Amino acid sequence: MAQDFPTQAQVVIVGGGIIGCSVAYHLSKLGWRDVVLLEQGQLSGGTTWHAAGLVGQLRSHANMTSLIKYSTQLYSELEAETGLATGWKNCGSVSVARTADRMTVLKRTAASARAQGVDIEVISPKEAQDLWPVMAIEDLAGAVWLPGDGKANPTDLTQSLAKGVRNRGVRIFERVRVTGITSKNGTVTGVETDRGTIAAEIVVNCAGQWARKVGQMCGVSVPLHSAEHMYIVTGKIEGVHPDLPVMRDPDGYIYFKEEVGGLVMGGFEPEAKPWGMAGIPDDFEFALLPDDWDQFEILMQSALERVPQLATSEVKKFYNGPESFTPDNNFILGEAPELKNFYVGAGFNSMGIASAGGAGRALAEWIVNGAPTMDLWPVDIRRFAGFNNNPRWLHDRVKETLGLHYAMPWPNRELDTARPFRRSPLYDRLAAKGACFGSKMGWERANWFAGEGETPVTDYAFGRQNWHEAVKREMAATREAAGLFDQTSFAKLLVQGRDAAAALNRICAAEIDVAIGRSIYTGLLNARGGYESDLTVLRLAADRFLLITGSAQAVHDADWIRKNIPTDAHVTLTDVTSAYAVLALMGPRSRDILGRLTSANLSNEAFPFATVHEIDIGYATAYANRMTYVGELGWELIVPTEFAVGVYEALQEAGRDVGLMDCGYYALEALRLEKGFRAWSRELTPDINPYEAGLAFAVSLDKPGGFIGRKALIEAKAKGAPTRRIVQFTVDDPSPMLWGGELVLRDGKPVGEVRSAAYGHTLGRAVALALVEHPSGVDKDFLTSGRFEVELAGERFAVTAWLSPAYDPKSLRVKA
Ligand SMILES: Cc1cc2nc3c(=O)[nH]c(=O)nc-3n(C[C@H](O)[C@H](O)[C@H](O)COP(=O)(O)OP(=O)(O)OC[C@H]3O[C@@H](n4cnc5c(N)ncnc54)[C@H](O)[C@@H]3O)c2cc1C
Repeated sequence: MAQDFPTQAQVVIVGGGIIGCSVAYHLSKLGWRDVVLLEQGQLSGGTTWHAAGLVGQLRSHANMTSLIKYSTQLYSELEAETGLATGWKNCGSVSVARTADRMTVLKRTAASARAQGVDIEVISPKEAQDLWPVMAIEDLAGAVWLPGDGKANPTDLTQSLAKGVRNRGVRIFERVRVTGITSKNGTVTGVETDRGTIAAEIVVNCAGQWARKVGQMCGVSVPLHSAEHMYIVTGKIEGVHPDLPVMRDPDGYIYFKEEVGGLVMGGFEPEAKPWGMAGIPDDFEFALLPDDWDQFEILMQSALERVPQLATSEVKKFYNGPESFTPDNNFILGEAPELKNFYVGAGFNSMGIASAGGAGRALAEWIVNGAPTMDLWPVDIRRFAGFNNNPRWLHDRVKETLGLHYAMPWPNRELDTARPFRRSPLYDRLAAKGACFGSKMGWERANWFAGEGETPVTDYAFGRQNWHEAVKREMAATREAAGLFDQTSFAKLLVQGRDAAAALNRICAAEIDVAIGRSIYTGLLNARGGYESDLTVLRLAADRFLLITGSAQAVHDADWIRKNIPTDAHVTLTDVTSAYAVLALMGPRSRDILGRLTSANLSNEAFPFATVHEIDIGYATAYANRMTYVGELGWELIVPTEFAVGVYEALQEAGRDVGLMDCGYYALEALRLEKGFRAWSRELTPDINPYEAGLAFAVSLDKPGGFIGRKALIEAKAKGAPTRRIVQFTVDDPSPMLWGGELVLRDGKPVGEVRSAAYGHTLGRAVALALVEHPSGVDKDFLTSGRFEVELAGERFAVTAWLSPAYDPKSLRVKA
């Protein structure tokens, strides 16, 4: 029976692929029935229909793994609910390693899988062959077996989700194209379609590779770009049976699954082929692109090595379908910072079938609660800014992102394409000094500086990398003399207005209504008491605050703050990141160096810790903020961009005879870890509160007016010792390197995971911050009485837990 076309709905979902259907399914499950889903063609006719249907659970972030774990559970139960089969088969998966380094990856993966509650077994090449008999194994170093993985039929799955949706009264309209998005006062109000307009409180953009265009209808950036993605289906092959596991051979860039007695073979080649530069045709429905055997050759070659029988088997079909990829190979989820009540779930990087269950639930919960219910930062739409939507940049970047699925996940691996992107005014000077650059939020940042005879190119490895000695020099300079760090990439937000102090004080956990000239380190907490951000607030005037926050957090933090400023308050927020460079001068000689360039009194009495003054530095006038992220005397100099080069040159000149050295982010990371300083998105996440983080000192629980998250903190405090805590560890053996993600054990039992790690040259050993869990409380007794170890690619090393920072400047500093 034809349905009447609605004129209004609480929620309109644009796109009837697997993602749109999953969001509708989960909204209806949460009790929201006034939902309308619009699909321009037929359900699943976009990208979903031709997916290979692999569902692999393991991801590098625990919460991302938990989303896919939930997908597998949903796919196994859905048929019982809806009566429509999903093709779900829990066949397990085997991943093989061709090299020793890949085997290290698999062993590290196995340790983190265990930490995340995913079944996994490290197996020999022979055992892998027993599970997957049609492969050659002579060249293999080993494998892992994940019994919980599986495969599904993407179209059936989508139809089954849609049935569940319809059963609960949600309306789905096919052959309706959304042509515009309407909004008023920064809030979405509905959609325009080729069948009329629908007023809506909430609009959800699940338009797959068209999502960028749908975003452009209302000024929302959805940075994704399509690339061609291919697989073949063979005729019957002897030994291939319906229960055959999925097989991945990442060193050969390929995967296999069984299909009607033959094999589906596809993969992720290192250099992808972007598609759709002139836009994605509206009528690209159940459509494919021409076969491209040249592009596929690299996959075919390695498939022939792995499965010799392929040489004689028939290729029944070549699938070349476009899929959308994002700049960092993670999907895009959440409420758009540009438009209230406009949500996005798109850019699934060839993981949409595996992710749909969990991502659909997460987005539905975000919509219903008005905020995410778990840490979703790796996929949060606010990790991108408008500049990421540049089409040429996206085109050049997706050539690399597709291949990342199977590329070696080296520690510290940087993406190479579409760079340089954002550059500090000091970029050329630092390059001339031997900087090896990495990239964060598009900024080129010096990771380390090559000395005489060294090349500023990182050689990746799981052990010590080629910059080990360079970072040792930089750390020593900072601890013993002074280091100069270009931290221009810091995000800077100016919050001004008559009500700025009151509004910010509700958003910040620390007291920020302080004397002018004070700077305050504070968390921004959510209602659960978890960290939405941690940043420094500089009070520049009664009605003016400068917030200095992490490079990646500009959009996120601005959005969080704006959302929490009362609508009638007299407050404005401006992102002034590009207006200032930041030079951090850190180390025991920093006062001497700065003193040579300024008339300001830098004594402890005149310029104590946690204060900010506008001072003269050479010819420039800049803010100097006495803060430290390395545990030494120092100033962050916040310099108008056009004066940055002048200040840099003046500092170099003034510091030459006392050993001032250019330092990079690798040294910064190791220095902060030695001191036990926490970092947002690593130790501090939306799921961690200040007591768990060990940062109770930065909370003013009793300040007048309270703050967001206070109630949750009071409840947490009343419970006594937290059941999980961030703990600093050092490795007793001075040789191993840790990189983060390693399993922590106490008396042989898993108790947590390393969040950040580096080699602490001052301490002469690796140092880490880990999240440790214990149901009856992580207290002093628990930390001092047990025998702690970390597992590094299958090998265990004794570690020491620290109750106060392992690096104490007073006792350890070597006098300059
Ligand atoms: C060759 C290939 C193999 C793959 N293999 C796997 C795999 O093994 N495992 C895995 O997890 N993933 C795989 N994927 C990825 C997976 O197919 C996608 O990530 C997933 O289908 C994306 O779903 P979606 O709902 O976001 O997009 P789509 O399925 O494209 O749905 C978006 C829908 O929005 C509609 N739409 C767009 N604009 C409008 C508008 N203005 N008005 C109304 N409707 C609109 C479109 O018509 C489309 O149907 C593969 C992809 C390819 C190409």
